[in-house]
Amino acid sequence: MLIHNRTTTALVWLSCIALYSCKATPITNNQSEPIFQTLDPAAAHEGRFVNDGFYRLGFLYDSAETIQLEVSTSKDGKIWTNFQAIKTIHNEQTNGMTAATGVSATTQKKSFYYRLRSVSGLMPNHLNIEPLGKQKPAENVAPEFKVQSTERRKVGYPEHLEVTDRHAWDAAPAPRCQSKHTPRLMTIHHTVTPNRDSINAAARARQIQSYHQLIRGWCDMGYHFLIGQDGEIIEGRRVEKVGAHVGGKNTSNIGIAFLGDFRYEAPSAKSLAKAAALVDFLSEYFSIELTSNNLLGHRDYTNRTLCPGNELYAKIDELRSPSPTGRIVGIVYSKSPENRIPNLEIRLSNGVSTTTNRSGYYSFENLHPGPYRIIARFNQSILENSRYLEADETIWASFKF
Ligand SMILES: [Zn+2]
Repeated sequence: MLIHNRTTTALVWLSCIALYSCKATPITNNQSEPIFQTLDPAAAHEGRFVNDGFYRLGFLYDSAETIQLEVSTSKDGKIWTNFQAIKTIHNEQTNGMTAATGVSATTQKKSFYYRLRSVSGLMPNHLNIEPLGKQKPAENVAPEFKVQSTERRKVGYPEHLEVTDRHAWDAAPAPRCQSKHTPRLMTIHHTVTPNRDSINAAARARQIQSYHQLIRGWCDMGYHFLIGQDGEIIEGRRVEKVGAHVGGKNTSNIGIAFLGDFRYEAPSAKSLAKAAALVDFLSEYFSIELTSNNLLGHRDYTNRTLCPGNELYAKIDELRSPSPTGRIVGIVYSKSPENRIPNLEIRLSNGVSTTTNRSGYYSFENLHPGPYRIIARFNQSILENSRYLEADETIWASFKF
């Protein structure tokens, strides 16, 4: 895929992109996830070459400052257009950061080079760029916000998964998503966004949905689930609807994307544990036996991508062959069981931690059998509980402060 940098070696290849060579392949990957390139923002003003050419550029970026990005394009790398502001599609302030998406104007003829600058000179803290084909008719049509969604979720998620559903993260409606399927496969992805993310998972979900719906022109977010590094599971496209995450292989395929970039860094234990719990639930719910034929990494389908990155790819086998595990769950309260303590960190002696939910409930899923110390700290008090967990056992370990 096809972008390389002729002037420096600083180009960072993105993982959900290609790979082994710069062979010519079409840019418009129909109904596959975006093929992003992460640019070193400092070097983004240098001309970039796109092997297969492009008509537009899609942007997903985070910025500490308000910035206006401008793009100049060229067919030959010699004659350049004037810099033109990219059109901002999504712009959301969160934790002092702006999570944004945008798209460049469509060029009349195919361009092969682009360069980028910002009006203030300040570049984004994180920047993904995707070369795109011509505008599709569906684009720039706001999702039908006025259409009352009549979709009713068919799949109810168990409490221990703590799924943040579409309503909770304020998803835009997706009335154009009509195709249903019966899931038989699951595919693991990564989103190539920062691992230590200052954008919370819900805001990240809105940004990704905006990109997929309003720039790619898809009916909804391409993935069915996002998994945060803190273990939060976000419901993306309804799992009973056909997704958009593996070109040509979307029917019956559930897309599970870890938020982050796992080319060089392993995903957190928390995110893996929650993903394992989700995969377990889905495999039971849809009667999908977990094998190396039906729980795959994106790269198993095509050599055009390295998604989900080596470090996450190496963990898929753990999700695929769950050994017998147990759970430790409990509630935490102060003085009497009615006074639950939410948002309290609970740690295990193996370093894994979680927090109590609004009901003061916590759970550790998919723990291998063995001895555990469970540690809770509230104000100045520390309580510990040592237990031996058997396979397929649920231990209740509640704490009273
Ligand atoms: Zn992928």
